[in-house]
Amino acid sequence: MKELIIFKEGEIALKGLNKRSFEDAFIRNLKHRLNPLGKFEYTKAQSTIYAIPQSEDIDLDEAVERGSKVFGAAALCRALVVEKNFDVICKEAISYIEETAMMSRTFKVEAKRSDKKFPMKSPEICMELGGKILEAYPQLTVDVKNPQMVVTVEIRDTSAYIHAGNLRGAGGIPVGTSGSAMLLLSGGIDSPVAAYMMAKRGVKLSAIHYVSPPYTSERARLKVERLCEKLTPYCGDIAFYCVPFTKIQEALRDNCPEELFTILMRRLMMEIAQRIAEEKDIQALVTGESVGQVASQTMGAIVCTDAACRMPVFRPVIGMDKTEIVEIARKIDTFDISIEPYEDCCTVFTPKHPKTRPVLADVEAAQAAFDFEPLIAEAVAETELKVIKL
Ligand code: ATP
Ligand code: MG
Repeated sequence: MKELIIFKEGEIALKGLNKRSFEDAFIRNLKHRLNPLGKFEYTKAQSTIYAIPQSEDIDLDEAVERGSKVFGAAALCRALVVEKNFDVICKEAISYIEETAMMSRTFKVEAKRSDKKFPMKSPEICMELGGKILEAYPQLTVDVKNPQMVVTVEIRDTSAYIHAGNLRGAGGIPVGTSGSAMLLLSGGIDSPVAAYMMAKRGVKLSAIHYVSPPYTSERARLKVERLCEKLTPYCGDIAFYCVPFTKIQEALRDNCPEELFTILMRRLMMEIAQRIAEEKDIQALVTGESVGQVASQTMGAIVCTDAACRMPVFRPVIGMDKTEIVEIARKIDTFDISIEPYEDCCTVFTPKHPKTRPVLADVEAAQAAFDFEPLIAEAVAETELKVIKL
């Protein structure tokens, strides 16, 4: 039995003149995901992309699983490749769709005939094959408006493809088509979800993480690396920057008003992220902040944090409730890692009474009262880079 995988374009199909570059990016990302499983050939026609395995031993279940996480396809399915002979098509289709047919009560047949030399026209194919399917599965009835099962027959140049039952694709647009951003990645629940949401919009992400040894452990950093690994099926390879943050946090503790500690720390995090981003031609920052969730995420705190930023800061979960964020975290399988109880640098030296309505002028004055520049430069210089591969 010879099969291939079909990807139906979502938003890409609407891209007009740019469509080709979006399709090429999708295929490039898909290749990167499927290559380790074996060789595939890729073709495209009518807002559909075909991944055709080049050997028999490729694990197609795994390929479908991987393909379902590549942004840019609205739907995907496995399809059977058969000879372009109508009797063969009917016979093979009836056995190929068995599982879906047994679970359905209504169906319709769709035919796409890109080979116009094929002797039967599309309506005829639908009628004839529909009749044969009704004979084989007597519990089925035809419903052209809202069928539970759609059996599709595509008559293409060299063979016919048969499929039934689409799976949901990852949606979105291909990673790499919307520029690049630096994600501030903690070990928490929210920032991995923020990564997923931006990658879905085509943004290529790098990640930056701040550690404060000995207050934070090596295992806490490894936890964040594991989160990156969980994100790679969606985001592709991730350049992971790990920033030593201890000296800055100690300087804050020793030199700044306690109630401004968190907000100043966040401004310094942003500063370091921007310096590395600028050096690497990365255009924006991403955080997992959700307005009102904690003291550092009140409107006033966000205003003070943003005032320290020269580049756009995207906060894709800003308007989401924790339960909505958790739902996505479970879907992308980061939740179980996120809730492992390791310390984060944000919870080191946290003030008992953080200011929820900080005044920007006070914050700026507090920051100006101490020369952080040498510590910032040192932290940037000592930042370690590790590429987390797919
Ligand atoms: P998360 O669940 O993403 O940790 P949170 O609800 O715990 O978020 P905070 O701890 O206030 O909220 O962090 C807000 C955002 O700041 C995080 O979403 C993340 O983008 C960034 N951040 C926090 N701690 C770190 C860290 N140690 N390294 C890098 N970024 C961090
Ligand atoms: Mg956190």
